[in-house]
Amino acid sequence: MKTQLRTDITIADICKGFVYNEIEGKGLYGWNGKLIIQPEYQRNYIYNDGKKDVAVAQSVLRGFPLGLIYFTQRDDGMYEVLDGQQRITSLGRFRTNKLPIMFDGREQNYNSLNDELKAMFDNTPLTIYICQGTEKEIKEWFQIINIGGVRLNDQEMRNAIYSGPFVTKMKAQYSNSQNPMQMKWGAYVKGDPKRQEVMQTVIDWVSHGNIDGYMAGHRRDNDINEAAGYFESVIDWVSGVFKTLHKEQCGLPWGELYEKYHTQPYNPDEVDDKVNELMTDEYVTNKRGIFEYVLGGCSNAAVLHVRLFDQHTIKTVYERQTQKARSEHISNCPLCAMGSGANKTKIYKLSEMDADHVTAWSKGGSTTIDNCQLLCKTHNRSKGNA
Ligand SMILES: [Zn+2]
Repeated sequence: MKTQLRTDITIADICKGFVYNEIEGKGLYGWNGKLIIQPEYQRNYIYNDGKKDVAVAQSVLRGFPLGLIYFTQRDDGMYEVLDGQQRITSLGRFRTNKLPIMFDGREQNYNSLNDELKAMFDNTPLTIYICQGTEKEIKEWFQIINIGGVRLNDQEMRNAIYSGPFVTKMKAQYSNSQNPMQMKWGAYVKGDPKRQEVMQTVIDWVSHGNIDGYMAGHRRDNDINEAAGYFESVIDWVSGVFKTLHKEQCGLPWGELYEKYHTQPYNPDEVDDKVNELMTDEYVTNKRGIFEYVLGGCSNAAVLHVRLFDQHTIKTVYERQTQKARSEHISNCPLCAMGSGANKTKIYKLSEMDADHVTAWSKGGSTTIDNCQLLCKTHNRSKGNA
């Protein structure tokens, strides 16, 4: 990666051609149109709280350094702000009289400063690293400077690496918290749209987990039809199969479940009854597993983490079973005792056995001492689910 340290670019240079989007609250362009201040991957301008933004302008007028700023240079010669977007936006707003600050005991904007202060503000040089490199290099480097305070999450980082028309369109659709669809999506998709977490899920689903590969392959796409269409199919499917909204549905791997089950027919009324029944079943400790369990035809109870027998019950049953087995000269594993193998009379230690539901939980058996038996580990495993 090529890097270049520039200390000759002043605030006045950067503020030439400054464009600020009032509605979205973000700086768009500067440096005579050569600089993209808010690339797709940058978070919204969060300095406009009347404190941090004001503090940036005040610092300059008091001669405080602004710290390092990073730009990347693109192949087309444009520059993007990688780190420093918030500071540059604050400077631009002040320079264009859109950010009043308290200075010298009164409210001022750029125009009301005396000439000396105006010159000082304009001529303050910025300390800018300009970087040019491959996607891989920028990614590696991002991960390093991310530690230094930018703190981008995974998807924000990917949006930086694969920035282009695809990311722009995806952001417009999925990263806008004002999009009325966010309410519906939020029932199934976890995360903050502004932190790109909804977009991340959309790409995760359509790519079957290969987010980086998908973004690299679609980087130059001018539409998002495939990803949007797939996402819509998944959401339509899940909201059609499960009538009642449960908070446990949020954040489940619906893309995977869709792939696995969407070709199967379901009766939404029956599904709804079953889900509601399991939601109130005290033995089901993993309520989030209910949806997969029902989709799979109620056969894989392992996903429900059905409550296990407690230690006291297990010990009591072990002693009862072992005493009886000793007096009858048979194995204390009832299944071994019924067989004809070498273990027919074997007395297992407690540590060699597992507790089992006599009547399976899925067939209505309860997790109580009357429904508990101990089996040797081999037989318990071969018996399958609880
Ligand atoms: Zn056995």
